[in-house]
Amino acid sequence: MKLKGIQNLDLTGKKVLLRLDLNLPIKGGVVQDKTRLTAALPTVDLLRKKGAIVLILTHYGRPGGAFHPEFKVDLIAEALSEALGTEVLKLDDCIGELVEEKTSSLEPGSVVLLENTRFHPGEKKNDPLFSKELAKNADLYVNDAFGAAHRAHASTEGVTHYLESYAGLLMQKEVEVLSKLLSEAESPFCLIAGGAKIDTKIGILNQFLGKADDFLIGGALANTFVAAQGHPVGKSLYQEDKLNVAQAFAESCPEQSLHLPDDFACASEISEEAHALNFGSDEIPDDQIMLDIGPDSQEAFVDVIRQAKTIIWNGPMGFYEIDAFSEGTRAVAEAVAKSEALSVLGGGDTIDAIAKMGLSVDQFSHISTGGGAMLEFLEGKTLPALTPLLA
Ligand code: ADP
Ligand code: MG
Repeated sequence: MKLKGIQNLDLTGKKVLLRLDLNLPIKGGVVQDKTRLTAALPTVDLLRKKGAIVLILTHYGRPGGAFHPEFKVDLIAEALSEALGTEVLKLDDCIGELVEEKTSSLEPGSVVLLENTRFHPGEKKNDPLFSKELAKNADLYVNDAFGAAHRAHASTEGVTHYLESYAGLLMQKEVEVLSKLLSEAESPFCLIAGGAKIDTKIGILNQFLGKADDFLIGGALANTFVAAQGHPVGKSLYQEDKLNVAQAFAESCPEQSLHLPDDFACASEISEEAHALNFGSDEIPDDQIMLDIGPDSQEAFVDVIRQAKTIIWNGPMGFYEIDAFSEGTRAVAEAVAKSEALSVLGGGDTIDAIAKMGLSVDQFSHISTGGGAMLEFLEGKTLPALTPLLA
């Protein structure tokens, strides 16, 4: 898959509408994690260097298609300004006369952050009228929001019908690395899947059947697999209506490739004070909750990771938000960090867990900024925002 890049464009004095994914996690007025912001900087820098006037679009949270002051992007503008080391003009809308007026006489290299696209109902509906309004104030469109590429919204897809459209540097890199995993992954190829629900991960598991050599299954996902084997899972989180999905995967997957945890760290309730108790996967007591992979499973998983030449990881191995149940995720994270393999990680909580454990992004080959978008890309689905950017 080859995308139309921005590298060879002459943009002097051109107004570029740049779609980023600056949907940053913000709590109590403080940005909690700047991964997405940092990932977007190279494209903004390049466009400025080329003399463009950069009008940035992003969504933030779920305001439901109407104005809600708590979803304004002012704090994001401040964080962006600090990261770029330059002034960022924040406007109170993303369309209309205000934008037209305020952007009509800006110097090349200027950066503007437009207000939350999701204040307009036309954004999620991909309304052509709204898309046209977005397009009106710019000469061309650049999309660098890989994290939103699986959604056909006005600011990701609709607008491409009205402006010449290109892929930013992050978008190009995401597609390049993820394509490699689909076409030329080196063996042994290890896919690590964890997290909360099997239905969000079964697509990628099935996609890599016959391609990956090892599947390491953790998180509440593993509980569903254990339940599907007919073992009791106590009070654990699992998907009772998806046992057949787990069973079908287990039947199609060669036995030596499927690595389910042999033991689990459990507790009778989920609390910061809880002490982890270990139980074998076929002896989970009725009053226990399986909250992490146990020590034997950690060792087994780490052994597989050590051998791997290619690693994909999505989803924490346990309830990592509580220290007592973060050991499995830590063991896996450290093993992947140490590995020389091509390692690609994705998923909001997976990235959060890495940051919490003090591991640096440089220790992994690629940290995808797309959770859902990465999974859909790897499942072989067509991402609606990518199609208009194809070379
Ligand atoms: P990602 O965002 O990386 O794709 P998910 O959203 O699928 O990951 O899953 C992350 C969530 O799964 C975390 O909140 C974590 O606490 C939860 N989780 C993982 N293992 C368990 C478990 N055994 N029981 C309950 N919740 C779990
Ligand atoms: Mg998540």
